[in-house]
Amino acid sequence: MTSLVLKKVAKKFGPVEVIPGIDLDIKSGEFIVFVGPSGCGKSTLLRMIAGLETISGGDLLIGGERMNDKAASDRGIAMVFQSYALYPHMSVYKNMAFGLETAGMPKDEIKVRVQKAAEILQIVPLLERKPKALSGGQRQRVAIGRAIVREPKIFLFDEPLSNLDAELRVQTRVEIAKLHADLDATMIYVTHDQVEAMTLADKIVVLRAGNVEQFGTPLDIYNRPNNRFVAGFIGSPK
Ligand code: ADP
Ligand code: MG
Repeated sequence: MTSLVLKKVAKKFGPVEVIPGIDLDIKSGEFIVFVGPSGCGKSTLLRMIAGLETISGGDLLIGGERMNDKAASDRGIAMVFQSYALYPHMSVYKNMAFGLETAGMPKDEIKVRVQKAAEILQIVPLLERKPKALSGGQRQRVAIGRAIVREPKIFLFDEPLSNLDAELRVQTRVEIAKLHADLDATMIYVTHDQVEAMTLADKIVVLRAGNVEQFGTPLDIYNRPNNRFVAGFIGSPK
């Protein structure tokens, strides 16, 4: 569990400013959902937090420590992508073990971690399969498993359910909520689905064009949207 603080965190791609400067104070253990229209900067923000994208300005603090220049692998963060990003030629076991092997963890410790994550996600029978022999939902579990084995303090999810059908979305959403309760980690979750936002979030961040329009509990935002834009996204009509 670790706090995450953004102070005027900004992003430019060349001359184009996509995030002018975001302030956010995320408490240890919170489940935070980022919502906002396509292109508003949700993925860019996650990638800066994860260390996959440079930060153009401001400060990113994790557990009070400035992280701007820290390598992704030293941030205690794991990210789950929409596209799963599994290695097609590796078994499920190997997909989950690979990052730990690269980090030099002893094989027996890796085995314990992969087994534990596979049990949580109920994918033990799939460990020897290749990704192409899995359903979309199973692939997404493996992608989540790959994050869990790293035992991160912070999980980042970038629209993890958007490739799944409606029924699986609901099922996986419930499992992610359970995961949050069981693992006691800070989670940041990007979606453009209001129902996901309302049901998962302790607090919602509504983004528009790289700015925070509102930050609050689902109930607060629903009942007291700051403006029409927010109301249009999740609020009651204003
Ligand atoms: P979202 O995830 O909310 O849909 P993104 O973070 O992907 O939005 O993108 C935010 C803005 O930054 C968009 O205008 C997008 O075109 C731009 N952008 C994202 N990545 C790059 C990049 N590597 N180079 C230039 N522009 C980018
Ligand atoms: Mg995105």
